[in-house]
Amino acid sequence: MGIPATGVQAAREQELRLVFRCDACDHKAKAVVLGRGQGSGVALMHLDVDGAARRAGAAATAGASKNARRLLELVACPACGHADGGAWTRAWLRVALIATAAAAPGLAAGGFIAVIAGGRGGFPLTVGLGLMTLGAVIGIAIAVSLAWPLGDVAGRVSFESADAKREDVSPGRRPGRSTPPRRRRRPGSPGRPPPARARG
Ligand SMILES: [Zn+2]
Repeated sequence: MGIPATGVQAAREQELRLVFRCDACDHKAKAVVLGRGQGSGVALMHLDVDGAARRAGAAATAGASKNARRLLELVACPACGHADGGAWTRAWLRVALIATAAAAPGLAAGGFIAVIAGGRGGFPLTVGLGLMTLGAVIGIAIAVSLAWPLGDVAGRVSFESADAKREDVSPGRRPGRSTPPRRRRRPGSPGRPPPARARG
């Protein structure tokens, strides 16, 4: 019998203002990064559920901040386009490691059962292969959920100084055309209609 407990899950999404610095060209820019994080808290014996919710929220906020910093390492430099290859390698390694760790119990237990079942086949082999499949599915699902945000790094990082740099456009005055665009349209039908000739 387990100890009765309340589990609280929290998810946070928050914008962080961070300073981007490019390793290649030393360009510095203020960035606004949308980080996402998840956290969980457990209240044993259903006591202090508020505290568990607070811990879950704090963990989610910390996760969102960490996530934002990680995203900023991945984004390409707005000045020279350089992207940190090492940071991308670390990001993919992290996805692979977490997914493998998630898939491992199912794969190991299923593989063990399948080997024990040996050539006899039948139900134990089915259970073993089923567990291995389950492990693989969990691993793939986690890999996809972790890899998905990596495809939208540019969409979650925006640079503030990129807009501030455009000083040629003074605020309040919109550069417009001095003359309205002219469109010439002939009132009549285009071309000359062939003269109708009647011969009788
Ligand atoms: Zn750069």
